Amino acid sequence: MREIVIISGKGGTGKTTVCASFSYLARKATLCDLDVDAPDLHILLDPRPRVTEAFISGNTAVVDAASCVGCGACAALCRFGAASLSGGKGSVDALRCEGCGVCVDLCPAKAIAFPEKHCGDWHISDTRMGLMVHAQLFPGQENSGRLVTLLKRKARELAREHGLDMILCDGSPGVGCPVISSLSGADLAVAVVEPTPSGRHDFQRVAALCDHFRIPVAVLINKADLNEQETARIEKECLERRYALLGRLPFDQAVTAAMVQRKALTELPGELGGMLRRAWDMILALPDARLKGRLLG
Ligand code: SF4
Ligand code: SF4
Repeated sequence: MREIVIISGKGGTGKTTVCASFSYLARKATLCDLDVDAPDLHILLDPRPRVTEAFISGNTAVVDAASCVGCGACAALCRFGAASLSGGKGSVDALRCEGCGVCVDLCPAKAIAFPEKHCGDWHISDTRMGLMVHAQLFPGQENSGRLVTLLKRKARELAREHGLDMILCDGSPGVGCPVISSLSGADLAVAVVEPTPSGRHDFQRVAALCDHFRIPVAVLINKADLNEQETARIEKECLERRYALLGRLPFDQAVTAAMVQRKALTELPGELGGMLRRAWDMILALPDARLKGRLLG
């Protein structure tokens, strides 16, 4: 089974547009949106959830005012400034509570409960392009790396259950914990890169992460015609680092037009769709040895 993760190093490069276009072309794949902080693949794929479950992660301290004796120990002990004494009673700001449990253990009146935290929901859905695993963290919630790991596990289970030979993921942006979780176990990272100094810099950081984990990288330059000089620099880096270059997509209003219709570019006639088809064919043609053996170049 091949796992392909679309990455960008930063948001707004066209990663989801590319992922939706590849999703339409991938015939036997489980789709997976790993951008759990701000998912948007569902906007284009219009999923119909068949399973919805809560994502529970960590705990939050909650003071029972009736049992509290107002000693102030919780406020004194909390290193995160989440507990305080107000009106003679202990109280906890749930948004600042890190769930360390110190106040819970040391409250002399045992007045602090420690319920699990419902941080978001995850789903298995039907889409016109196949089964999709996706999620949404609630605003301000953390542990997105854990949620990404859970989604990938579910996607693998689903692929095995349905005899699908590929998992295609819209990875998390950036280079932090969720991206590392996104890349875990991947056979190929497809980087969608914008030809700007910041786009190239962010690409370099995420590519270094892939190199560290020995994950082959293939590159698609988006809006390549807007900055030929930067495009040439990215191509040169690909050559030097032996990353497969999948193509140069020009800036095109067709992207916005497709989004308005909630369609993938490959579902519609047009030059960009054709270029993405060729890029997808190149991915499929990458030799197995290169993917499975985790060899670069
Ligand atoms: S430590 Fe317990 S008893 Fe003391 S103020 Fe906090 S909640 Fe109340
Ligand atoms: S659980 Fe930890 S972070 Fe939360 S209020 Fe208690 S001491 Fe502070």
